[in-house]
Amino acid sequence: MTLKIGLTGNIGSGKTLISGVFSSLGIPVYHADEVSKKFLDDPKVKNEILKHFGYGILTNDHEINRRSLASIVFTDEKALLVLNSILHPRVKRDFRKWTELQINIQYVIQEAAIIFESGFRKEYDYVIHVSCPKETAIDRVVKRDKIDGHSVLRRMQFQLEDAEKSMLSDFVIRNDGSELVIPQVIAIHNQLLEIGAKRNNDVTSRTADA
Ligand code: ATP
Repeated sequence: MTLKIGLTGNIGSGKTLISGVFSSLGIPVYHADEVSKKFLDDPKVKNEILKHFGYGILTNDHEINRRSLASIVFTDEKALLVLNSILHPRVKRDFRKWTELQINIQYVIQEAAIIFESGFRKEYDYVIHVSCPKETAIDRVVKRDKIDGHSVLRRMQFQLEDAEKSMLSDFVIRNDGSELVIPQVIAIHNQLLEIGAKRNNDVTSRTADA
């Protein structure tokens, strides 16, 4: 049985960077935020979005204008909840299907910015939080996306505080520059391999006893 691990962290905390390290260790990584964006091209999703957000959300090419949609949901929590209610069930189903395709793998990772906020926690056996102070994360995103600090803060406003996410998580990776991240990833990787092996042994011996 493959363990499902959620990898979360606030905007700019370093989720993508850290998930790349897990990936280089051979662990399959599912990028929930990327998949959500792809679902915007699905005709059924598009119709639902139009129903709630109106035709003003379309580009001249009749595609969903991702920038406009983002600027609405980053400032209006109700709109964010509506969008999440359209996308999240689809991502959940897609992640389950994707996990079933991963054969002979001890664990898989889903990278997702919001796990606790979206009620996704129960989808995972364990959650890893990438922790980083808000100021550092803002500086990183300002540099990465070439936007101003206020826009980054606006995107962060509906996310739980870093300390709260750390408390709710099973593992925490400190990505604030005070500790090297690769040794932290390897330590968690080894623990997860052990947990996965133990769980598979337990299942095998229960099956043998039956
Ligand atoms: P988002 O939620 O916005 O997708 P994220 O949590 O996936 O962000 P990353 O994209 O991995 O964050 O990191 C944000 C930026 O900070 C990237 O440009 C990344 O290269 C840089 N970064 C991450 N960690 C570090 C670090 N320890 N030292 C220097 N730069 C870093």
